[in-house]
Amino acid sequence: MKTAFLGLGAIGRPMASRIAAAGLPLTVWNRTSERAAAFAQQTGARHGQSPADAVRDAEVIITCFPESHHVQALLDGPDGLIAGMTRGATLVDCTSGDPATSRAIAAALSPHGVGFLDAPVSGGVTGAEKGTLTVMVGGDPEVLDGVRPVLETFAKLIIRCGDIGAGDSVKAVNQAFLAIHLLAAAEGLATLVKEGVDPKLALDVINASSGRSNSSMNLIPERVLTRAFPRTFRLALLEKDIGIAAGLARDNRVPAPVTLLTADLFRVARGELGEFADHVEIVKMVEQWAGVEIA
Ligand code: NDP
Repeated sequence: MKTAFLGLGAIGRPMASRIAAAGLPLTVWNRTSERAAAFAQQTGARHGQSPADAVRDAEVIITCFPESHHVQALLDGPDGLIAGMTRGATLVDCTSGDPATSRAIAAALSPHGVGFLDAPVSGGVTGAEKGTLTVMVGGDPEVLDGVRPVLETFAKLIIRCGDIGAGDSVKAVNQAFLAIHLLAAAEGLATLVKEGVDPKLALDVINASSGRSNSSMNLIPERVLTRAFPRTFRLALLEKDIGIAAGLARDNRVPAPVTLLTADLFRVARGELGEFADHVEIVKMVEQWAGVEIA
Protein backbone atom coordinates (compact mmCIF):
# COMPACT_ATOMS: atom_id res chain seq x y z
CA MET A 1 0.00 0.00 0.00
CA LYS A 2 1.71 3.19 -1.19
CA THR A 3 1.76 5.72 1.64
CA ALA A 4 2.70 9.37 2.04
CA PHE A 5 3.32 11.04 5.42
CA LEU A 6 3.37 14.81 5.82
CA GLY A 7 4.40 16.48 9.08
CA LEU A 8 7.43 14.90 10.78
CA GLY A 9 7.04 16.60 14.17
CA ALA A 10 7.40 15.14 17.67
CA ILE A 11 4.69 12.52 17.11
CA GLY A 12 4.60 12.40 13.31
CA ARG A 13 8.17 11.30 12.99
CA PRO A 14 7.90 8.10 15.09
CA MET A 15 4.56 7.29 13.42
CA ALA A 16 6.18 7.56 10.00
CA SER A 17 9.11 5.47 11.26
CA ARG A 18 6.68 2.65 12.12
CA ILE A 19 5.25 2.76 8.58
CA ALA A 20 8.74 2.62 7.08
CA ALA A 21 9.78 -0.19 9.44
CA ALA A 22 6.72 -2.21 8.36
CA GLY A 23 8.10 -2.14 4.83
CA LEU A 24 5.34 -0.08 3.21
CA PRO A 25 6.46 2.12 0.30
CA LEU A 26 6.65 5.58 1.91
CA THR A 27 7.18 9.15 0.76
CA VAL A 28 7.59 11.93 3.34
CA TRP A 29 7.29 15.71 3.25
CA ASN A 30 8.01 18.26 5.97
CA ARG A 31 7.92 22.07 5.96
CA THR A 32 11.52 22.18 7.21
CA SER A 33 12.89 20.01 4.44
CA GLU A 34 16.12 19.05 6.25
CA ARG A 35 14.01 16.96 8.64
CA ALA A 36 12.40 15.05 5.79
CA ALA A 37 15.77 14.62 4.08
CA ALA A 38 17.32 13.19 7.26
CA PHE A 39 14.31 10.90 7.77
CA ALA A 40 14.55 9.65 4.18
CA GLN A 41 18.24 8.96 4.56
CA GLN A 42 17.71 7.01 7.80
CA THR A 43 14.73 4.94 6.67
CA GLY A 44 14.96 4.64 2.89
CA ALA A 45 11.72 6.57 2.40
CA ARG A 46 11.42 8.87 -0.61
CA HIS A 47 11.69 12.61 0.13
CA GLY A 48 8.84 14.47 -1.58
CA GLN A 49 9.85 17.92 -2.81
CA SER A 50 6.38 19.44 -2.27
CA PRO A 51 3.05 18.27 -0.86
CA ALA A 52 1.88 17.54 -4.43
CA ASP A 53 5.03 15.57 -5.21
CA ALA A 54 4.81 13.63 -1.93
CA VAL A 55 1.27 12.36 -2.52
CA ARG A 56 1.62 11.45 -6.20
CA ASP A 57 0.58 7.79 -6.59
CA ALA A 58 -0.09 7.42 -2.85
CA GLU A 59 -3.13 5.36 -1.87
CA VAL A 60 -3.01 6.49 1.76
CA ILE A 61 -1.90 9.99 2.74
CA ILE A 62 -1.32 10.79 6.41
CA THR A 63 -1.03 14.33 7.72
CA CYS A 64 0.03 15.31 11.24
CA PHE A 65 0.23 19.07 11.81
CA PRO A 66 -0.49 21.25 14.83
CA GLU A 67 -3.97 22.36 13.72
CA SER A 68 -6.57 21.51 11.07
CA HIS A 69 -6.10 24.83 9.28
CA HIS A 70 -2.50 23.84 8.54
CA VAL A 71 -3.84 20.85 6.58
CA GLN A 72 -6.47 23.00 4.86
CA ALA A 73 -3.78 25.49 3.81
CA LEU A 74 -1.89 22.73 1.99
CA LEU A 75 -4.81 21.61 -0.19
CA ASP A 76 -4.72 24.12 -3.05
CA GLY A 77 -2.22 25.52 -5.52
CA PRO A 78 0.19 23.89 -7.99
CA ASP A 79 2.25 22.34 -5.15
CA GLY A 80 -0.79 21.50 -3.01
CA LEU A 81 -2.20 18.15 -2.02
CA ILE A 82 -5.14 18.20 -4.43
CA ALA A 83 -2.79 18.80 -7.39
CA GLY A 84 -0.95 15.56 -6.61
CA MET A 85 -3.66 13.27 -5.27
CA THR A 86 -5.05 10.35 -7.25
CA ARG A 87 -8.76 9.51 -7.39
CA GLY A 88 -9.52 6.74 -4.91
CA ALA A 89 -6.84 7.87 -2.44
CA THR A 90 -7.67 8.57 1.21
CA LEU A 91 -6.37 11.45 3.33
CA VAL A 92 -6.09 10.37 6.96
CA ASP A 93 -5.57 13.45 9.11
CA CYS A 94 -3.90 12.50 12.39
CA THR A 95 -3.76 16.13 13.50
CA SER A 96 -5.69 16.74 16.75
CA GLY A 97 -8.00 18.97 14.79
CA ASP A 98 -11.37 20.66 14.96
CA PRO A 99 -14.50 19.02 13.55
CA ALA A 100 -15.71 21.98 11.47
CA THR A 101 -12.44 22.32 9.57
CA SER A 102 -12.27 18.54 9.09
CA ARG A 103 -15.73 18.61 7.51
CA ALA A 104 -14.62 21.48 5.25
CA ILE A 105 -11.52 19.53 4.18
CA ALA A 106 -13.63 16.44 3.44
CA ALA A 107 -15.99 18.55 1.32
CA ALA A 108 -13.07 20.04 -0.63
CA LEU A 109 -11.61 16.58 -1.36
CA SER A 110 -14.85 14.83 -2.28
CA PRO A 111 -15.17 16.27 -5.84
CA HIS A 112 -11.67 14.94 -6.56
CA GLY A 113 -12.63 11.40 -5.54
CA VAL A 114 -10.43 11.51 -2.43
CA GLY A 115 -11.77 10.12 0.85
CA PHE A 116 -11.12 11.73 4.22
CA LEU A 117 -10.91 10.54 7.82
CA ASP A 118 -10.16 12.63 10.87
CA ALA A 119 -7.97 10.32 12.93
CA PRO A 120 -6.29 11.99 15.91
CA VAL A 121 -4.05 9.80 18.05
CA SER A 122 -3.36 9.38 21.75
CA GLY A 123 -0.54 7.64 23.56
CA GLY A 124 2.29 10.13 23.22
CA VAL A 125 5.68 9.89 21.58
CA THR A 126 6.46 6.65 23.45
CA GLY A 127 3.22 5.09 22.20
CA ALA A 128 4.11 6.11 18.65
CA GLU A 129 7.58 4.57 18.97
CA LYS A 130 6.14 1.32 20.32
CA GLY A 131 3.23 1.23 17.87
CA THR A 132 0.65 1.30 20.67
CA LEU A 133 -1.25 4.50 19.86
CA THR A 134 -5.01 4.80 20.11
CA VAL A 135 -6.60 6.23 16.95
CA MET A 136 -10.04 7.82 17.18
CA VAL A 137 -11.62 8.04 13.77
CA GLY A 138 -14.41 10.04 12.20
CA GLY A 139 -15.69 9.03 8.77
CA ASP A 140 -16.98 6.24 6.58
CA PRO A 141 -16.38 2.72 8.00
CA GLU A 142 -15.48 1.32 4.57
CA VAL A 143 -12.92 4.06 4.00
CA LEU A 144 -11.48 3.22 7.42
CA ASP A 145 -11.27 -0.48 6.56
CA GLY A 146 -9.29 0.44 3.44
CA VAL A 147 -6.55 2.21 5.42
CA ARG A 148 -6.44 -0.02 8.51
CA PRO A 149 -3.23 -1.86 7.50
CA VAL A 150 -1.36 1.45 7.52
CA LEU A 151 -2.85 2.64 10.82
CA GLU A 152 -2.06 -0.72 12.43
CA THR A 153 1.66 -0.09 11.94
CA PHE A 154 1.52 2.53 14.71
CA ALA A 155 -1.73 1.80 16.56
CA LYS A 156 -2.92 -0.85 18.99
CA LEU A 157 -6.49 0.42 19.19
CA ILE A 158 -8.47 1.95 16.31
CA ILE A 159 -12.00 3.08 17.15
CA ARG A 160 -14.48 4.65 14.76
CA CYS A 161 -16.26 7.32 16.82
CA GLY A 162 -18.83 8.43 14.22
CA ASP A 163 -19.03 10.61 11.12
CA ILE A 164 -16.36 13.06 9.98
CA GLY A 165 -15.40 15.29 12.92
CA ALA A 166 -16.25 12.71 15.59
CA GLY A 167 -12.61 11.69 16.02
CA ASP A 168 -11.63 15.33 16.56
CA SER A 169 -14.45 15.81 19.07
CA VAL A 170 -13.48 12.79 21.16
CA LYS A 171 -9.83 13.81 21.08
CA ALA A 172 -10.61 17.38 22.20
CA VAL A 173 -12.65 16.12 25.15
CA ASN A 174 -9.93 13.61 26.07
CA GLN A 175 -7.44 16.45 26.07
CA ALA A 176 -9.72 18.57 28.24
CA PHE A 177 -9.70 15.72 30.78
CA LEU A 178 -5.90 15.65 30.62
CA ALA A 179 -5.59 19.40 31.14
CA ILE A 180 -8.11 19.46 34.01
CA HIS A 181 -6.61 16.40 35.74
CA LEU A 182 -3.10 17.81 35.46
CA LEU A 183 -4.01 21.16 36.99
CA ALA A 184 -6.12 19.56 39.72
CA ALA A 185 -3.29 17.17 40.62
CA ALA A 186 -0.76 20.02 40.73
CA GLU A 187 -2.98 22.15 43.00
CA GLY A 188 -3.73 19.23 45.31
CA LEU A 189 -0.14 18.06 45.59
CA ALA A 190 1.19 21.59 46.16
CA THR A 191 -1.29 21.83 49.04
CA LEU A 192 -0.21 18.48 50.48
CA VAL A 193 3.48 19.45 50.33
CA LYS A 194 2.63 22.58 52.32
CA GLU A 195 0.76 20.36 54.77
CA GLY A 196 4.03 18.48 55.26
CA VAL A 197 3.05 15.34 53.34
CA ASP A 198 5.61 13.64 51.07
CA PRO A 199 4.10 13.89 47.56
CA LYS A 200 5.38 10.43 46.62
CA LEU A 201 3.53 8.91 49.58
CA ALA A 202 0.46 10.95 48.74
CA LEU A 203 0.55 9.60 45.17
CA ASP A 204 0.93 6.02 46.47
CA VAL A 205 -2.37 6.56 48.30
CA ILE A 206 -4.16 8.48 45.55
CA ASN A 207 -3.11 6.02 42.85
CA ALA A 208 -4.78 3.25 44.86
CA SER A 209 -7.84 5.45 45.41
CA SER A 210 -10.60 7.17 43.49
CA GLY A 211 -8.73 10.39 42.66
CA ARG A 212 -6.17 8.77 40.37
CA SER A 213 -5.62 9.77 36.76
CA ASN A 214 -2.94 9.50 34.09
CA SER A 215 -1.48 12.67 35.60
CA SER A 216 -1.22 11.18 39.10
CA MET A 217 -0.19 7.71 37.90
CA ASN A 218 2.33 8.60 35.20
CA LEU A 219 2.98 12.24 34.40
CA ILE A 220 3.68 13.58 37.89
CA PRO A 221 5.75 10.63 39.18
CA GLU A 222 7.81 10.38 35.99
CA ARG A 223 8.19 14.03 35.09
CA VAL A 224 7.55 16.27 38.11
CA LEU A 225 8.89 14.33 41.12
CA THR A 226 12.03 13.58 39.08
CA ARG A 227 12.19 17.25 37.89
CA ALA A 228 12.88 15.79 34.41
CA PHE A 229 10.09 17.68 32.58
CA PRO A 230 10.93 16.12 29.17
CA ARG A 231 9.55 18.01 26.17
CA THR A 232 7.33 15.52 24.31
CA PHE A 233 4.02 17.32 23.85
CA ARG A 234 3.93 21.08 23.67
CA LEU A 235 1.76 22.96 26.15
CA ALA A 236 0.72 25.19 23.22
CA LEU A 237 -0.89 22.14 21.57
CA LEU A 238 -2.80 21.20 24.73
CA GLU A 239 -3.98 24.83 24.99
CA LYS A 240 -5.21 24.48 21.40
CA ASP A 241 -6.96 21.19 22.25
CA ILE A 242 -8.82 22.42 25.30
CA GLY A 243 -9.79 25.51 23.33
CA ILE A 244 -11.46 23.20 20.79
CA ALA A 245 -13.24 21.36 23.62
CA ALA A 246 -14.44 24.66 25.13
CA GLY A 247 -15.72 25.77 21.71
CA LEU A 248 -17.61 22.51 21.23
CA ALA A 249 -19.26 22.85 24.64
CA ARG A 250 -20.28 26.41 23.77
CA ASP A 251 -21.58 25.41 20.30
CA ASN A 252 -23.70 22.70 21.90
CA ARG A 253 -24.92 25.01 24.68
CA VAL A 254 -23.40 22.81 27.38
CA PRO A 255 -22.46 24.84 30.47
CA ALA A 256 -18.80 23.94 30.99
CA PRO A 257 -17.24 26.28 33.56
CA VAL A 258 -14.46 23.82 34.52
CA THR A 259 -13.38 23.39 30.90
CA LEU A 260 -13.56 27.14 30.21
CA LEU A 261 -11.56 28.08 33.31
CA THR A 262 -8.92 25.45 32.55
CA ALA A 263 -8.74 26.66 28.93
CA ASP A 264 -8.07 30.20 30.23
CA LEU A 265 -5.40 28.97 32.65
CA PHE A 266 -3.66 27.10 29.83
CA ARG A 267 -3.83 30.27 27.72
CA VAL A 268 -2.09 32.16 30.53
CA ALA A 269 0.49 29.37 30.85
CA ARG A 270 1.14 29.40 27.10
CA GLY A 271 1.80 33.15 27.28
CA GLU A 272 4.12 32.76 30.28
CA LEU A 273 5.97 29.56 29.36
CA GLY A 274 6.12 29.98 25.58
CA GLU A 275 5.54 27.85 22.47
CA PHE A 276 8.11 25.18 23.27
CA ALA A 277 7.29 24.36 26.91
CA ASP A 278 5.96 20.86 27.56
CA HIS A 279 2.37 20.53 28.77
CA VAL A 280 3.48 19.19 32.18
CA GLU A 281 5.41 22.43 32.76
CA ILE A 282 2.11 24.05 33.76
CA VAL A 283 2.81 22.38 37.11
CA LYS A 284 5.72 24.84 37.51
CA MET A 285 3.24 27.70 37.26
CA VAL A 286 1.15 26.22 40.08
CA GLU A 287 4.33 25.65 42.10
CA GLN A 288 5.31 29.29 41.61
CA TRP A 289 1.90 30.52 42.72
CA ALA A 290 2.08 28.26 45.79
CA GLY A 291 5.74 29.01 46.55
CA VAL A 292 6.54 25.30 46.84
CA GLU A 293 8.06 22.53 44.73
CA ILE A 294 6.27 19.19 44.30
CA ALA A 295 9.33 17.07 44.97
P1 NDP B 1 5.21 19.48 16.57
O1 NDP B 1 5.06 20.91 16.87
O2 NDP B 1 6.32 18.70 17.17
O3 NDP B 1 5.32 19.26 14.97
C1 NDP B 1 4.48 19.93 14.11
C2 NDP B 1 4.71 19.49 12.68
O4 NDP B 1 3.89 20.29 11.84
C3 NDP B 1 6.14 19.69 12.20
O5 NDP B 1 6.42 18.74 11.20
C4 NDP B 1 6.09 21.09 11.61
O6 NDP B 1 7.05 21.31 10.61
C5 NDP B 1 4.72 21.06 10.96
N1 NDP B 1 4.15 22.39 10.79
C6 NDP B 1 3.89 23.31 11.74
N2 NDP B 1 3.30 24.40 11.19
C7 NDP B 1 3.21 24.14 9.86
C8 NDP B 1 2.71 24.88 8.75
N3 NDP B 1 2.18 26.11 8.91
N4 NDP B 1 2.77 24.32 7.52
C9 NDP B 1 3.29 23.10 7.35
N5 NDP B 1 3.78 22.34 8.36
C10 NDP B 1 3.74 22.87 9.60
O7 NDP B 1 3.81 18.81 16.91
P2 NDP B 1 3.49 17.29 17.33
O8 NDP B 1 4.13 16.36 16.38
O9 NDP B 1 3.74 17.13 18.78
O10 NDP B 1 1.90 17.29 17.14
C11 NDP B 1 1.28 17.14 15.87
C12 NDP B 1 -0.21 16.90 16.12
O11 NDP B 1 -0.37 15.70 16.89
C13 NDP B 1 -0.87 18.02 16.94
O12 NDP B 1 -2.18 18.24 16.50
C14 NDP B 1 -0.84 17.46 18.36
O13 NDP B 1 -1.87 18.06 19.15
C15 NDP B 1 -1.04 15.98 18.11
N6 NDP B 1 -0.54 15.07 19.14
C16 NDP B 1 0.75 15.19 19.65
C17 NDP B 1 1.18 14.30 20.62
C18 NDP B 1 2.56 14.37 21.24
O14 NDP B 1 2.81 13.63 22.21
N7 NDP B 1 3.48 15.19 20.73
C19 NDP B 1 0.30 13.23 21.16
C20 NDP B 1 -0.97 13.16 20.49
C21 NDP B 1 -1.38 14.06 19.55
P3 NDP B 1 8.52 21.90 10.94
O15 NDP B 1 9.39 20.69 11.16
O16 NDP B 1 8.88 22.67 9.73
O17 NDP B 1 8.40 22.77 12.17
